[in-house]
Amino acid sequence: MQLIDNFNFSGKKVIVRVDFNVPLNANFEVTDDTRIKGALKTINKILDQGGAAILMSHLGRPKSAPEEKYSLKHVISNLSKNLGGKEVKFADDCISDKAIEMKKSLKMGEVLLLENLRFYAAEDKDKEGMKAFAQKLADGCDVYVNDAFGTAHRAHASTAIIAEFFADNAKMFGYLINDELNAMDNVLLQSKKPFTAIMGGAKVSDKILVIENLLDRVDNLIIGGGMTYTFIKALGGKIGNSLCEEDKLDLALEILNKAKAKGVKVYLPTDAVNADKFDAAANTKLSKIDETPDGWMGLDIGTETIKTFNEVIKNSKTVLWNGPMGVFEMEKFAAGTTSVAKALALATANGAFTLVGGGDSVSAINKNNLADKVSYVSTGGGAMLEYIEGKNLPGIKAIRK
Ligand code: AMP
Repeated sequence: MQLIDNFNFSGKKVIVRVDFNVPLNANFEVTDDTRIKGALKTINKILDQGGAAILMSHLGRPKSAPEEKYSLKHVISNLSKNLGGKEVKFADDCISDKAIEMKKSLKMGEVLLLENLRFYAAEDKDKEGMKAFAQKLADGCDVYVNDAFGTAHRAHASTAIIAEFFADNAKMFGYLINDELNAMDNVLLQSKKPFTAIMGGAKVSDKILVIENLLDRVDNLIIGGGMTYTFIKALGGKIGNSLCEEDKLDLALEILNKAKAKGVKVYLPTDAVNADKFDAAANTKLSKIDETPDGWMGLDIGTETIKTFNEVIKNSKTVLWNGPMGVFEMEKFAAGTTSVAKALALATANGAFTLVGGGDSVSAINKNNLADKVSYVSTGGGAMLEYIEGKNLPGIKAIRK
């Protein structure tokens, strides 16, 4: 497999799939350019070595037709600023004759941004049209680089199909995907023990395949968040009005039995912060996890649980975290998630490798200014979960042999 580090882009026209799906405010200004910054290392390597960079991305969820609010022209000024004031040329359609002409006349050292890929159904929905669409994207380019990890689990024209039009030594991952894969492989294939996985969030059903795949690898499995209550109910506990997936009770017991058979220690919360309604201003009451008072619902892990979880995390050498421990969006129910974020930072300082993924866990890490205190923060929640499930992601498979 061609590695970006070993490649010389001098004289090459390089089409790069980036993830510029950034949030915009009412004036169409970029409010968080983390994703743009994430692509800079790859873009700068191409430009610094004397190549030309043609950038393609999606933005938002347009209905397979041009929509002003989803135009990638809104990111031009931010991108230009991040590239040190460099001019960013823009093609107002990603596959038109004019766009192809602009690619062909682009000079080395220049940057061209193509309009939103998802203005065409052939990017993501129209499977029949994907190949012809991808070929037009590839037209006029010598090299393909995929650096959009967030969409690597999608078999889209620009993330997978386009790779068919480039020889093995002319397609590669960018630095962002490389780093993501290294971080995940570090956890999955070379984890130092004890290895602890922390799974949270609303539903067991979303994380079931991940949990099952992790049972073969981890020493400890910490469960928190709303999914806790499906386990607690399955074990015969009283859960009041807490979140529960009634049709997953058997599955919850099955997971616990499998964990036991494989020697994985499962840590379920032992106490909870309950609320009398799902509201930031709700009254709260602490209880044992399996004694939720009637009419109340558990919205965060309790103090005893926080202590136990902290201890397990602190003593781990590898930690993977996905999903909040409670309704962390509300201040009253954020303590559990914050404590896990801090425990990860502590474990990292003690020499552990710590990987955080999923929008909510990442936002908890950022809110507590801990992004540089953990080993790696993943940019693609869904893609990370599917990789950890053991799936062969289309965007990865298209390049990695
Ligand atoms: P997920 O998308 O499955 O990772 O779930 C994330 C969401 O789960 C967040 O918006 C949390 O507010 C929510 N959540 C976490 N714990 C609970 C809980 N105990 N009850 C209800 N919702 C929860």
